[in-house]
Amino acid sequence: MKEILAELDAAQTAYDALVPTGSRAQVYDAGQTVKRIKAQLSDAISEGAAACPTCGGKPHGMAQPYRFRGQVKHGFEIGCTNCLDHRAAGPTRDQCVADWNAGAWSDPGKAQATNGDHAAARALCAS
Ligand SMILES: [Zn+2]
Repeated sequence: MKEILAELDAAQTAYDALVPTGSRAQVYDAGQTVKRIKAQLSDAISEGAAACPTCGGKPHGMAQPYRFRGQVKHGFEIGCTNCLDHRAAGPTRDQCVADWNAGAWSDPGKAQATNGDHAAARALCAS
């Protein structure tokens, strides 16, 4: 996962640098690269998670801040992009995969993403 994050950082930096001066084609290509690497990261996080039991969709993995007992912590989330109430969030990827596969959905109020510290989530993800 560390390698994917390093690749994503490089791709995002390249994209940001191109936006003000690059051609539309260059910016588009750089954006597609970022999108591809984000999909790789999602796949790495949701590895081992079964298809959504309701719609059969592929689960989406994310690294992000979440709320637990009133505190903002950083960890992982696996969710369905079709069934928005189907999500498993927690401090470790393994626990999220286990909860997801068991259908133990997280309370959206506790698991909700914040506009908080994505850098901390990424650091945790890389450890
Ligand atoms: Zn679903």
